[in-house]
Amino acid sequence: MSGRTSAPACPERTCIGCRQRSARNGLLRVVRNGDRCVPDLRGTLPGRGAYVHPTPSCLELAVRRRAFPRAFRTQGPLDIGELREAVGRTPPEEP
Ligand SMILES: [Zn+2]
Repeated sequence: MSGRTSAPACPERTCIGCRQRSARNGLLRVVRNGDRCVPDLRGTLPGRGAYVHPTPSCLELAVRRRAFPRAFRTQGPLDIGELREAVGRTPPEEP
């Protein structure tokens, strides 16, 4: 919110797992579908989105922090099975 005054070239989002900011295209957008969290791999799904690094460690951090229910403003538990699959398939560091 402070510091740089020039407009960033690409939008930044905060990872809800490690809480670090990254360029949006380096983060996985997650949307809620009923009681499931689903990966928005194409960036086209409607609704409120949360962002997390596509790594198992950030996903688990987000789960431990209950970041998904908070991000989606819900009380109940959310199924993140599809997210686990998505990040499991994505190499953490791909050049
Ligand atoms: Zn992260």
